Amino acid sequence: MEDACIICGKRIAGLEVRNDYILSSIRWFKRNVTKNEKGFRLVVCREDFPKYYKQRKSFERKRSLYVGLGAVFAIALFVLSSFNLYSLFYGFGIVVFLYLLSLVSYMPALEAVHAAGKQKRDSAAGGSAASMHTSGMRPAGGITKTKGYKHE
Ligand SMILES: [Zn+2]
Repeated sequence: MEDACIICGKRIAGLEVRNDYILSSIRWFKRNVTKNEKGFRLVVCREDFPKYYKQRKSFERKRSLYVGLGAVFAIALFVLSSFNLYSLFYGFGIVVFLYLLSLVSYMPALEAVHAAGKQKRDSAAGGSAASMHTSGMRPAGGITKTKGYKHE
């Protein structure tokens, strides 16, 4: 499979993008609806990494902000409706809507960066349960190819 950079679009080698449910849905849509799946392995090339990193961070910030805002709205709605259980349904809708809104600036995670970040988080937590699933997926030399790796 040919590599393609998600930032500049060049057919060039780079760090592999982690295939998450958003990318899977886009792929599914291209394969089954618009019928224009290109079948590239998505990567971020070396030159575009700083640019990618900035966009990824900005997306992550926006996503937390929007979901946090949605949660505040949902709680406020629940309280204001005198704890009407139906209001939770609307509150959930608000959270989902704001989450989808944050996807406008979507930037996928990278395999290597994701694995490294997970290890850092786990060792910071220091829990025995957290360290159980880290062994056996340490990135070797930057790029990891962990097929069948179940995330989150
Ligand atoms: Zn590039």
